[in-house]
Amino acid sequence: MRVVVTGGAGFLGSHLAAALLARGDQVVCLDNFSTGRLENVEPFLADPAFALVETDVSEGIDVPGTVDAVAHLASPASPPDYHRMPLETLAVGSRGTEHALRLAARDRARFVLASTSEVYGDPVVHPQREEYWGNVNPVGPRSVYDEAKRFAEAVSMAYRRTYDLNVGIVRIFNTYGPRMRPQDGRVVTSFITQALVGDPLTIYGDGEQTRSFCYVDDLIAGIVAMIDGSESGPVNLGNPVEWTVTRLASAVLALTGSSSEIEYHPLPTDDPTRRRPDITLARQLLGWEPRVPVEEGLRRTIEWFRSRPEELLAAAPA
Ligand code: NAD
Ligand code: UDP
Repeated sequence: MRVVVTGGAGFLGSHLAAALLARGDQVVCLDNFSTGRLENVEPFLADPAFALVETDVSEGIDVPGTVDAVAHLASPASPPDYHRMPLETLAVGSRGTEHALRLAARDRARFVLASTSEVYGDPVVHPQREEYWGNVNPVGPRSVYDEAKRFAEAVSMAYRRTYDLNVGIVRIFNTYGPRMRPQDGRVVTSFITQALVGDPLTIYGDGEQTRSFCYVDDLIAGIVAMIDGSESGPVNLGNPVEWTVTRLASAVLALTGSSSEIEYHPLPTDDPTRRRPDITLARQLLGWEPRVPVEEGLRRTIEWFRSRPEELLAAAPA
């Protein structure tokens, strides 16, 4: 298969590219490096099956030659990133998605949208099943991400209905692992970096809010199954094991052996209180479920961060 991965130099995109190359696919990575990094894809640059194109997919997409699948992952994903780039986030979720859909429609290719658990907003239904329509504040600071992804889902389904395009949507829940940026502001990276450099761990709110953390290798197996399938979804992909932020902080302290203190900060506006995927559909349709326990995934991620002292040093207190 020849697969276009938008956002292929990012955290998930680079892992997806690696998994596709490993099984013999060709990968065309489209990325504007707004939050992605060249070093994420550097190991693939010598591989003739890999092509890297630096481009903003919100402006348009031009990929010569036939493609078999388009995986649309381009979008800022961490709250500090999409707060810093609100208009870019809306653009890539709307115009960027439509450009990626047009490319898929040109070649009658499979199209997979990386949507998010954020489409459920601050959910009043728990755990979240795909039928739930969500509880999103359309004008709050998170709306640039949430509503962009909701539009992306809507336009993807419209392409499926209008052009009978082979569209599939995955709703990804919090995923972590190697190749995340130490300063991307997400909770797993923040806690690991803080613990390793001896800074206080910054808990927002009282730490009783929950998330369900999925290890990256598991998540990528789910995306690949979706690329290979023909289900429209949306399908939740995530780890149904639900942890409070406080529990995550304790686990990171224990696994790193750090004596960092805990520091409490205000909870960001509209921060979801509870989040946990119901993955019945993913089990049924894709035969997929996560395998890596959170402690094991954290251990692997911590090792990866430890092996990059120069980046941690940049995060260390003066
Ligand atoms: P990331 O920030 O590491 O990767 C996003 C990539 O998209 C980056 O390489 C960035 O440079 C690129 N990009 C952004 N705008 C672009 C544009 N206009 N044109 C070209 N490239 C552009 O984030 P990630 O965690 O790898 O997330 C990847 C996708 O998965 C995103 O769509 C995100 O919404 C979705 N997702 C991720 C998670 C998670 O926990 N990691 C959860 C839910 C959904
Ligand atoms: N969070 C925290 N400390 C941090 C970063 C995040 O307590 O340094 C909290 C955040 O308020 C949220 C949870 O951890 O309740 C997950 O945040 P993240 O940004 O990783 O993901 P998202 O909110 O998008 O699920």
